[in-house]
Amino acid sequence: MSDSEMGMASGDLTRRFFLERLGRMGGTAMLLAGMDALGFGIGSALAAPPKLSGKPKKNKVVILGAGNAGLASAYELTQAGYAVTVIEARSFPGGRAQTARKGFSLTELGGVTQNCDFDDGLYINHGPWRIPYHHHSTLHYTRKFGVPLELFNNDNDASFLYFDKGKGPLAGKPIRKREVVADMLGYSSEILAKLSQQGALDSRMGAEDKEKFLEFLVEFGALSKKDLSYTGTPGRGFVVDPGAGTDPGPGKPSTPYKLDELLGSGLFHMVHGISEWDQQRTMFQPVQGMEQIPKAIARHLPEGMIRFNTEVQRMRQTPKGVTIDVLRDGQAETISADWCICTIPLSVLKGIDNGLSPAFQAAMAKCAYAPVGKIGLQMKRRFWEEDHSIYGGHVFCDNPDINNIALPSTGWQGQKGVLLGYYNFGPNAAKVSAKSPADRAAMAVDYGQKIFPAYRESYETSFSVAWHRVKYNLGGWGMWSDEARATAYPVLTEPDGRIYLAGEHLSYIGGWQAGAFESAWQQVERLHARAMKG
Ligand SMILES: Cc1cc2nc3c(=O)[nH]c(=O)nc-3n(C[C@H](O)[C@H](O)[C@H](O)COP(=O)(O)OP(=O)(O)OC[C@H]3O[C@@H](n4cnc5c(N)ncnc54)[C@H](O)[C@@H]3O)c2cc1C
Repeated sequence: MSDSEMGMASGDLTRRFFLERLGRMGGTAMLLAGMDALGFGIGSALAAPPKLSGKPKKNKVVILGAGNAGLASAYELTQAGYAVTVIEARSFPGGRAQTARKGFSLTELGGVTQNCDFDDGLYINHGPWRIPYHHHSTLHYTRKFGVPLELFNNDNDASFLYFDKGKGPLAGKPIRKREVVADMLGYSSEILAKLSQQGALDSRMGAEDKEKFLEFLVEFGALSKKDLSYTGTPGRGFVVDPGAGTDPGPGKPSTPYKLDELLGSGLFHMVHGISEWDQQRTMFQPVQGMEQIPKAIARHLPEGMIRFNTEVQRMRQTPKGVTIDVLRDGQAETISADWCICTIPLSVLKGIDNGLSPAFQAAMAKCAYAPVGKIGLQMKRRFWEEDHSIYGGHVFCDNPDINNIALPSTGWQGQKGVLLGYYNFGPNAAKVSAKSPADRAAMAVDYGQKIFPAYRESYETSFSVAWHRVKYNLGGWGMWSDEARATAYPVLTEPDGRIYLAGEHLSYIGGWQAGAFESAWQQVERLHARAMKG
């Protein structure tokens, strides 16, 4: 599928993928334009939950789902004096915010059961894995509940890029990102600087600005002040690193790749002036896995408030209240409340006898869910650190079955590690998910072997997920076309009688935990304003 087809392929199953590709192809400007156009991804706006003051007249709330949206709703409402019950189909809190470690088990729809058998202490965040510094709502809960954070290395100059679909001598070889960035910036600056000297920019700027602009290009592109040429820079690395004495002494500088080689290889797609807004450093991860956030919130809820292993079967409401029919271990039960906050993903909610209005049914039908896959590969040796000095970050590839291999941002210089072997989206995620877990791992290992000589011999075991085949999610995240964002989305942000929907799908920070938290905060505030009136 071409990029434009991907962008248009609506139902828009591939929106995030499209944006990621757009960012690679056109850099930040194009990406931000695309994000604006698609109504996606502008940073987290709320820094703190709403203040819910006063005593509500009707205070019984049933919350469907104990993912981050459900947990935040439960916590904030409990603090405000509501009597809350949370219904959760799974046996643990967090929804998508899961961490696979020894003993974690997952059965995809129509698939086999995978029992994670990573060594003790090793894990993969097969759902959310990183938190941008501007996701204030997510960071509100980590701060509030003392969830320790560590840096997530989201960009590594030393990491490899591996593109095998391009032409020329750089295709099909692991190339250090720093080399590609240095050379592309160098050549671009050189060309611009020389054009400027030839008068090409005279109509754009006066003599003084031209001089300053030249100064900028010389610094930016590491150009020779003498003749404005780019002949390399220590920043792209050395053939022999500098050291002591006279040998290696100053080391041996490296030689830039040729511009036509870089263009032919396609590697230039990975050079961005500034990172995408939601990919910027500083990026965090919770120590010991993303599940630590929902677990911490759940610990601060009254014992027994969350009813685990309890599946919502049917939802009904009258002008006075709501009733939710649930099934727990084969036992039917009906739960009554004054209000309901439903955080079940729309992909799942559509298939439940939900009793919602025709307007809601029509609006829900307009939200598509992204096929998304990830695999964790346990390696018996941290060869990426030992052999290549790559500490965290991503190896970006031009094979969309893989997209990126991510090296762990924890356990530095330990013996073993779990790396992310692929992160695929859209049709590629669907294709790869049709394989058995063993075949997915074999595919990932075969590919990684092209980049790292020690990949296959180091591989021990894997754990993979295809979110579109996970029963209580049926997709990675919700996606709205422009048309649906304008028409259907606003319908669902309003209550349907006494039922309020919340979750990442009802935010413009879709596919991020901050979207779930902030959507919850918004709906809780609205519910409270109404409950105060009776
Ligand atoms: C692969 C992947 C990578 C991601 N990366 C990041 C990232 O790096 N950073 C980030 O911040 N976010 C990331 N996200 C997004 C983040 O995981 C979500 O936005 C967020 O966790 C959604 O929370 P939620 O409460 O809206 O939904 P969920 O977490 O899905 O919660 C919904 C809950 O409803 C329950 N439920 C479903 N059906 C029923 C039923 N019938 N009865 C009872 N309960 C039911 C589910 O079990 C679940 O607990 C990623 C997501 C994926 C899939």
